[in-house]
This record gives sequence, C-alpha cells and structure tokens, in this order.
Amino acid sequence: MRVSNLLLPTLREVPAEAEVISHQLLLRAGFMRKAAAGVYTLLPLAWRVVRKIEQIIREEMDRQGGQEIMMPIIQPAELWQESGRWDVYGPELFRLKDRHGRDFCLGPTHEEIITSLVKGEVNSYKQLPLLLYQIQNKYRDERRPRFGLMRGREFIMKDLYSFDRDQAGLDVSYNKMYDAYTRVFRRCGLQFRPVVADSGAIGGSDTHEFMVLAESGEATVLYCGDEKCGYAANQERAETVSASGQITSALEQLQTVGTPGCRTVNEVTEFLNVPPEKIIKTVIYTTDKENVAAMVRGDREINEIKLYNTLDCVRLDLADEQTVQSVTGAPVGYAGPVGLSGVRLVADHEIMNMVNAVCGANEKDKHLVNVNPKRDFKPDIIIDLRLVKAGDPCPHCGSELQEARGIEVGQVFKLGTKYSKALGGTFLDENGKSMPYVMGCYGIGVTRTMAAAVEQNYDERGIIWPVQIAPYHVIVVPVSNKDQKLMQAAETIYNDLNAAGVETVIDDRPERAGVKFNDADLVGYPVRVTVGSKGLANGQVELYLRRNSETELVSLNNVVCAVK
Ligand code: ATP
Ligand code: MG
Ligand code: MG
Ligand code: MG
Repeated sequence: MRVSNLLLPTLREVPAEAEVISHQLLLRAGFMRKAAAGVYTLLPLAWRVVRKIEQIIREEMDRQGGQEIMMPIIQPAELWQESGRWDVYGPELFRLKDRHGRDFCLGPTHEEIITSLVKGEVNSYKQLPLLLYQIQNKYRDERRPRFGLMRGREFIMKDLYSFDRDQAGLDVSYNKMYDAYTRVFRRCGLQFRPVVADSGAIGGSDTHEFMVLAESGEATVLYCGDEKCGYAANQERAETVSASGQITSALEQLQTVGTPGCRTVNEVTEFLNVPPEKIIKTVIYTTDKENVAAMVRGDREINEIKLYNTLDCVRLDLADEQTVQSVTGAPVGYAGPVGLSGVRLVADHEIMNMVNAVCGANEKDKHLVNVNPKRDFKPDIIIDLRLVKAGDPCPHCGSELQEARGIEVGQVFKLGTKYSKALGGTFLDENGKSMPYVMGCYGIGVTRTMAAAVEQNYDERGIIWPVQIAPYHVIVVPVSNKDQKLMQAAETIYNDLNAAGVETVIDDRPERAGVKFNDADLVGYPVRVTVGSKGLANGQVELYLRRNSETELVSLNNVVCAVK
C-alpha cells in the first residue's frame, strides 16, 4: 500500500473531546472518525488491526472446539420477554418497532437468540458439549459513551456460548475459555490480569474478568502483593470476599427485581410497597456518581453510595422475611430511561447470619421477634461495605493487597441453567430424562481491546503497535521524492518485503522527511526502513525500531532478512 493512496487523515492537534490517550491517538493517527456519540467509523488501518485481533480470537476459539456462526443483530422482544430481560435490562437496551408495531431490540448480547437456536436443534446429550461463537457488532445505549472505542454504543464483540450436560461439563468448557482468553491477550501483546469478579446483575456463580492494566482503566483491581499467592479480584468482588464466608453466601443469594419507571429510591420503595420502617439500610450502587443525584432526589436516608461497574441499583436490607417475600412477589417491570435497574434484597435471617458472623451475637431465628435493628445491633457493622484498598490483607494469604487500574477486555461467566430453564432449552440425558442445558457465556470486546492496546503502547510521539496486531509491520520512507535513484531503491525494498510476506507500506508522498517520520511515529509502524542518499551511496539503508528507537544500518540486499 502506498501512503499517497491511503485514507489516513492524521491530525496535528489533540482533539478536544478526547480524554484518554487511546481516544486521542486513534483520532490523531487517522484510525477512526466519530459518527455519533459512541459510534465510530473505523478507517483502513483500524480495520486491519481489528481483523488481526479477530483472527487471533478465531484461532483460539477454534483451537478449543468453538464453531463460528453469525446471529442476527435484530432480536424479537418475545425472546427477551421469555427470559425476563425485556423488563429488567433497562435503558441500555436499544429498542425499536417494525412497521407493524412489533417490538424488537438491537442485540447487546445473545443469550436469548442462541438458547432458542440450540433448543430447536440439539435434543440429545450426544450432541453436547457445544461451543458456538460469533464476532459481531453489539449495541448498548450506554449512559455515558466515552473514551472513544473504550465505551461505545456500537462496538465489536466476540461472544461464545457453551452448552453442557452438567456442571462438570461446564467447568471443562469454562476452563477451556479461560485458557483461550489467556492465549488471546498474550498473543495480542498485552499486559493483563484475570481477576475474580462479581456476578452482578446477570446472576451466576463463577466469573472472571480479563483486565488490561492501564491508568485510564475504569475498574479497580486488587491483587495480592505476594506473586505466589496469585489472588486478584475486581473491587466489587474483593469487597464481598473480604467479608466472612457467610456474608458472601448471603450476598450471593440476593434477589433482583425490576422497578418500572422508577427514578428515585422513594419511587422504588413505593412501587415495591416496602414499609419504610422495615428498611434497615439503603445502599445505592451506581456506575456514575454524578447521576446519583437524580436517584436520591428528595429521598429517605441513603446509607451509602458505591461505584459499581455493571448497573445502577439500590440495595435494601429489610428487617423481616415477610417483607422480602411480599416485595419479591412484585411484578417485574421496565426501569425508565434514567431509572434504577434493580433492587437487591436481603432476608432477615441472612442479616442475622451476618450479625452472628461478625459480632457472634444473636442466635439464628431466636432474635427475630421484636428485634430493633438500630437498637439491638448496628446494621453498619453487619455488612462491611468499605471498599477494599491497597494495603488491606489478602483474603487468601494475608499479605498486603496492591491496587491497579484495569480495562475490562473480556469476561468469562458460568451462567448455569438460567436461560435454558427460562426458554425451555432441554435435552434428553442417557436415561431419557429431560434436562436443561448448563450454559456459559464468554465475551471479548474486540474494539475495546484495540483501544486498550494503545493505552499500554504509546509514547509522546504516538502509538507503538505490538507487532502481532500492527496494521502494517514496516513503512519504507524514501527521504526525498526528487532523487530518482533513491525512489527506485525504496520501491525495490517495498516490493521485496511484500513479496516476502512482510506487510509493508511506502511513504511515497512528496513531503519532507520530517513530516513522514512524524506520521510514521504517530501511526506506530513497528519498523521503519529509511532510504537516504548518504546510506545508499554505501549500499545501505537504516532500520529503525519504533519501540525503543534503536537504529541499525543494513546493506540493501539484506533488508528482508534483517526485518524478518
Ligand atoms: P463494562 O463493565 O465495561 O460496562 P460489561 O461487563 O458490561 O463491560 P460484558 O457484558 O461483560 O461487558 O461484555 C463483554 C465485553 O464486551 C467486555 O468485557 C468489554 O470488553 C466489551 N464491552 C462491553 N461494553 C462495551 C462498550 N460499551 N464498548 C466497547 N466494548 C464493550
Ligand atoms: Mg463489567
Ligand atoms: Mg456494561
Ligand atoms: Mg463484563
């Protein structure tokens, strides 16, 4: 490819709207342009990077027995109603109607579609396990699309779904994907860390997030200072794990219900019909502290506001089981545009368990009658919701925890039977018994991975692509276009490199050498071959490595060998 033909509109200035490095550099280096908030066109070089990342992912999915398919982006509301998510997914779901007034959504994820597909085609244990994946655009109407490709409203994701006969099968599939993800991100040249994560709103058991470590990361990762221990968790999870085992299991049993159109905590409690005196504690989890004002407008006392990375919800700790039951029996509905996506509830005996675990005080079931939470125990001690910080003891080995910022580039998740049960996805086992598939889901943000790669690989001059995902490997730069001999030598090198399978561009623009060098550094080609008249007189060209600025003179007929 000739740079003179390439659509590569580099910019001198840092675009004002771009806060993080990857956003700035991908705009400046001419990799992408914005079409709408959180919606981008990827220009030729970006698309090459994406295709390379996709190819690595494909190879690793296929290696584990994954089969690639392509599912529709447009999904019928009926499937989402069956799974219960049409109402609880909230405003992040792009909803639309067809000309007949039927409801659809743009897929933010594909559990419903794939479960209904497999349900129709797979009905015997002999057909399991099954690993199906696709690489496709996803749509999420993020409240705050930002950081360029990092948090888009349209983005590319690889999503794989595993179907197994039983939990043991799921464990195998999960481990396969965990290994595949480790290989994918290693092959992309990234520094990353898998961390145990909070299953959040999706409701499942085991889950890991793959975090690319970078200052701009929106997530906080806590990991054990002792490398041998290996403990690492995202902050939400670390917080839960740091409490006692009983608290952890109690928190895992929290139930989530939807609250249609509710915008404040008061509206939520009213809708759910919770008597105020039954509420021991109110905690707001939010992805966005600024927006929390809208949720707590004119509200009852809020005990705590916590940053949470998956959804906005309010957790109510209720005083007795009856109240919890009456509330969870409430109809599930749609949370309005800036509304709360869910309410998490804790039953009284769980709270008592927590009291016992922490204070060793009250005996289970005995103390529930006439108990006055504020008088008989201090609810704030019951669940230690203080965020775990660097310096706290590791829950595994007691060493000091360290803190780092992370970008979530992938997540693996044991779904279990949630979707197969909801959508009636069953198979016949050896004994002819009908069983629900045991499922897992596994996502990688392809475009986010590209941005994360930039966050880890840049300097003041521009991007430094890891070779494995670089848009091109080499740029040949003739320092002057006027010198015919020099241009000819550059052309020869360019042709030889391409013929040898090295992806090479030639900067044949009639620009000054300095301009070409600056652009090459900004775009981030791993290797530059500079063809100048002085070197040429000695039969030599200069190899320049972008990463460490090392240069080396090589003889003309040795360029291909030296580059490879
Ligand atoms: P986040 O916590 O950042 O909102 P998520 O947990 O909602 O992400 P998943 O549902 O786990 O995302 O989707 C799988 C992967 O898709 C994520 O690990 C991430 O790499 C990518 N991803 C999710 N949301 C976006 C987005 N808005 N823009 C770009 N990539 C995204
Ligand atoms: Mg997340
Ligand atoms: Mg999200
Ligand atoms: Mg996730």
